[in-house]
Order: sequence, then C-alpha cells, then structure tokens
Amino acid sequence: MAVIGLDDTDSRDRGMCTTYLAATVATRLRERDHRVERSLLVRLNPAIEHKTRGNAALSIHTDCSRKEAFALACEAIERAAETADSNTNPGLVVAPDADVSSTIAEFSTRATGGRLAIADAREACEAAGYTSHGWGNGRGLIGALAAVGAWRAFSEWTVEHVAYREPERWGTPRSVDTDSLFAAAERGYPDSWDTVDRGEREAVCVPRTPCPVLFGVRGEDRDATSEVATAVDSEPIERTATFLTNQGTDAHLREGEISTVEDGRAYRLSGTVASAPETHRGGHVHFELAESGENDGDAGEDGVDDTAPQLGCVAFEPTKRFRDRVRGLCVGDRLTVCGEVSEGTLKLEKFAVRDLLETEAVTPTCPECARSMESAGHEQGYRCRNCGTDREGKVPRALDRDLEVGWYEVPPRARRHVAKPLVRGGFDAPTHPER
Ligand code: ATP
Repeated sequence: MAVIGLDDTDSRDRGMCTTYLAATVATRLRERDHRVERSLLVRLNPAIEHKTRGNAALSIHTDCSRKEAFALACEAIERAAETADSNTNPGLVVAPDADVSSTIAEFSTRATGGRLAIADAREACEAAGYTSHGWGNGRGLIGALAAVGAWRAFSEWTVEHVAYREPERWGTPRSVDTDSLFAAAERGYPDSWDTVDRGEREAVCVPRTPCPVLFGVRGEDRDATSEVATAVDSEPIERTATFLTNQGTDAHLREGEISTVEDGRAYRLSGTVASAPETHRGGHVHFELAESGENDGDAGEDGVDDTAPQLGCVAFEPTKRFRDRVRGLCVGDRLTVCGEVSEGTLKLEKFAVRDLLETEAVTPTCPECARSMESAGHEQGYRCRNCGTDREGKVPRALDRDLEVGWYEVPPRARRHVAKPLVRGGFDAPTHPER
C-alpha cells in the first residue's frame, strides 16, 4: 500500500496541471495491474501567493509498493513537470498508508487555513519516515504532504470529474458545445453544481488557461458528475479522471471575531453593518462590519456600537449580481459573513442576514400640518414652528427591504473552489442559492 502525494508541477504561463500528472500516474499504476483505490484533489489555503491558480494538491491511494510508487511518480514528474519555470517547485511524498498520525492530519488542516514553511514539511516527512523528494526549492513538499494527510484530516468529500484534452490541442481554444453543456448542467442540478453560471451565461467548468483540462464537473458523487460530463458535446477527450475532493465544503473557514482576525486566513464572523454599502471605483462594493456582542448596550439609535472594532468587507466586481444583495444592506443589520481577510478587508464569499432592520429613525412630521418638524435644541426633541406641536425624539419609519433573513452567496462564476455552494444544504438559516 502507498499513498502518493504530489504538488506544484504546473506553470501559469507554460501550462500543465497537477491533476493531469496525478491522472497519468494513476493510469500507469493500473497498466501495471495495481489497484487505485482513490485519488484526492485537495484545495489548500486559497490565500497562498505561490499558488498557480486554485492551490490544489493531489494524492493517489494504491496497493503498489512504496518503492515502485516513488519511482513511478518521480519519473512522471521529471517527464511532465514545468520545472523550467522557476516558480514551479515540485514535491513528492510517499507514505505507507492513509491512516496517518494526528500530527500529519493536523499538517493538512493547517495547510488549508494557514501558512506553512518548506522546513515544516521536510521535518514532518522525516519524523514520519516517509519517502520524499523536492525539486527546485521543494515548496511542493508542503502541498504533497498535506494531500497525504487529507484523508484523515477531512470528513466531507465531494467529487470532480475532469475531462482532459489531447496533448496536441493544449494551448489552443477549447471546443465545447455550450448548448449541450447548459442542458446537461440543468439536468444535473443540484447533484452537480457550478458547471455553468446561468445569470451570466458562462461555462464555469471550462478553464481559460493553457492547461490540459477540457472541463471539470463538480458534484455530490461519481454518478451525478459523470452523467453531466457524458452529455457534453466537445472536442475529443484524451482521458478522464474522478477525484474525491474537499471542494465545495468550506474547509478553509474558521470561526473568528472581528477584533482578532489575521490576514491570509478565512473566517466565519458575526457583526452589525456599521456603514452604508458604497460602490467604489472598479465596481467593488464596500461596507464596514462592527463586532457585536458584549458592548451591544453601547449601541446608538442605529443599533451600532461606535466603539466596537470594525472590519471592512468587500464584494468584488466579478461577483456581479451578488453586489446588489450587498447594496441592499442597511446600517444596523446583523450578519454572519464568510471570506478571506486580506490587507485588513474580508473578501465576501457569502453572508447570512440574521436580523434585518425593519424601521429607520426619522425626523417626525407635524400631525396638524404634515410638515417636517425641526430640532428644538440639543436633547430637546422636535417642534413644529407653525403649529407648536412637539415630539421627544425621532420616530420609526418602516423600511422597504429587498433582502430576507438567510444566506446569500456569490454566483458560480466567482466561487472559490473550496467554498460551499448554498445548494449543498446544511446551513443554519434559509438559503438563497445562486446558479
Ligand atoms: P495547480 O492546482 O493548477 O497545480 P496550484 O494553484 O495548486 O496549481 P501550485 O503550483 O501547487 O499552485 O503552488 C502552490 C504552492 O504553495 C505549492 O508549492 C504548495 O506546496 C504551497 N502551499 C500550499 N499550501 C500552502 C500553505 N498553507 N502554506 C505554505 N505553502 C503552501
């Protein structure tokens, strides 16, 4: 038995894709009559700047001996990895089985939500007695080891069915029939998701990079994804591979508080909207979220405690219609927000409206003449100059709200690989899925 962990074999400019390399290793193993029990596609911390695209690492679980597995994977990496790119630093780790120690499982969890050093990976491999090899600076050892520990570290798995292009077509425009793809996606929903974005009529599952992937269908299980893939008309497919993956599981999110968030980590946080959403240059929509909790007694008329720590939240332009949901928020709304914190701002992936402000405080109108009253002085309420009527303070006026209590999310085109689509269920409030 061997678990082969692989990472960092591709290049943004030169192509390749570690999933393809893993698929070729699995094919070679089968050709030699070995069993491939499963292949894992593990998404690690999306905030890591060294990533080529989606920070994926791969592992293959096989009945092959460690020695043969190591030799076979080395050969595949040396043949195919884009090591001419100095940013490509492949890593290979081979472990005796998937039942790793809690230290290795913890390494995988930390690689999903935090930042690790190459030396951490080397030390952990050595301590566990794993066979490993790094090319270039060996950074890929981090992902390779995380992929080895993933089976024990994570309990929730979804599926991706990937179709690969014939090598002579790599780098040329892809030929995938859009009508058949949209029809297949419609039939396959909701057991498969994020195949297309209906709102923007985009084929989300077809990449635009020079890599070998033709398309990748994501979903709950092998049957659901392969049914969609089979119904798509396209250029010839060289090979397919089915991966178990932590995609669509929110594995990157941790519970947090506004006052203690750190850059480069992704959180689930609660708070109160503290500033009206504003659209800035480039179409990005920003607002401030204030910590709610202990200091709620200090909240002002709008329900916001001005002394509470605040965090900027942003819905970027590519999130398109999601920005209208964000623009619909009012100061005083209570939310749970999810996303990665970068440069002190949380990039919204989804949010739940917990409490929607139903009224706003406005200057009272005179019951006699219906004109707006005027301030009668500091803390002296309001008075109508004409009629002499008065009121102690502002009065509530019903707000016309477009939002409802529950979860809202970015559309498929803007979804991070690891982010859980609302249609998958299991959320703690009503959901408003995008498709
Ligand atoms: P692809 O999935 O298309 O192969 P990618 O987007 O996964 O590309 P890589 O080329 O694998 O990107 O580069 C990511 C690099 O970052 C790898 O070397 C990996 O070992 C490293 N890495 C991943 N997670 C972490 C982490 N949490 N801390 C530090 N380094 C990490």
